[in-house]
Amino acid sequence: MQITTKTQKVGLLGWPLGHSLSPAMHNAAFAASGLDYVYLPLSTPPKLLPQAVAGIRALGFVGVNVTIPHKVAIMDYLDEIDTSAKLVGAVNTIVVKEERLIGYNTDAGGYIHSLEQAGITVAGKSAVIFGAGGAARAVVAGLVGANIDSVTIGARDQSKADGIAQLFAGTVPVNGVAWDSSTFAAALSQTNLVVNATPLGMYPAIASQPSVPWELLQQSVVISDLVYNPPITSFMAEGTRRGHTVVGGAGMLIEQGALAFELWTGCKADPQVMRQALLAGLDAINKN
Ligand code: NAP
Repeated sequence: MQITTKTQKVGLLGWPLGHSLSPAMHNAAFAASGLDYVYLPLSTPPKLLPQAVAGIRALGFVGVNVTIPHKVAIMDYLDEIDTSAKLVGAVNTIVVKEERLIGYNTDAGGYIHSLEQAGITVAGKSAVIFGAGGAARAVVAGLVGANIDSVTIGARDQSKADGIAQLFAGTVPVNGVAWDSSTFAAALSQTNLVVNATPLGMYPAIASQPSVPWELLQQSVVISDLVYNPPITSFMAEGTRRGHTVVGGAGMLIEQGALAFELWTGCKADPQVMRQALLAGLDAINKN
């Protein structure tokens, strides 16, 4: 691809960026769409975040993705926060319009799209989530927005699960519980969807998984893992072995990226192109 003075710039603000595969996914999608855009890694230490935000505005970026550790801190530097980001309490995508920076969150929508891509709808159903961090909050926002009936959040520290549950008070029932409690076991025995929103099973500790009492789950339960490296986790493999439908975290990563792509360009990204770039990147990382 030829970069010229007309090329539109987007990128990824985070620290450290490590092995992020967002540049590979987005640049592949831009190339496949014939769009004159480039996605750049913008490694930014926390103390320089204000200067980086000023740079995005000054240098004429169309937008950026935002990742750890800036997703919450960046909200102080934006001109406007979209409802999608208010619900999740974090920004993962910024769009620059006439020098105004608008913060969005595409994780919640990306999660729901990844379920839909797998033929799963959540309206009228119930979900149980393992973990009470940023990803769990995005998943709850997505599920509530997609008209789920109820959500149970289980964590090793119940106060963190309670903290997320309280944010959704007044919507549908969202309960925080300790994941070693009988309440959690009861929720598992009645749920339609079980989500791993912890890093358990993530490369390199790929043998670990959340401790699910499998015998309690109904056969129709969908197993969803947010971990995307490896693309098939031990939790997913166990779910498949036991006859459950499983959905991996790669879908969420791709779909949140596709939504950001659309916000920046006004065009739809090709998720298959993004998936190929993601899987090739993961393969290369895991071989090294
Ligand atoms: P986070 O904010 O750090 O939260 C992690 C949660 O998992 C917390 O509840 C934490 O409990 C719990 N946890 C961490 N290590 C644990 C362990 N060894 N045993 C039991 N519980 C543990 O992280 P996050 O941003 O929510 O991310 C969670 C996972 O989702 C990560 O693997 C991340 O890669 C993945 N993710 C995927 C996508 C995607 O697009 N597919 C997007 C976002 C995140 P404590 O609070 O008690 O430590």
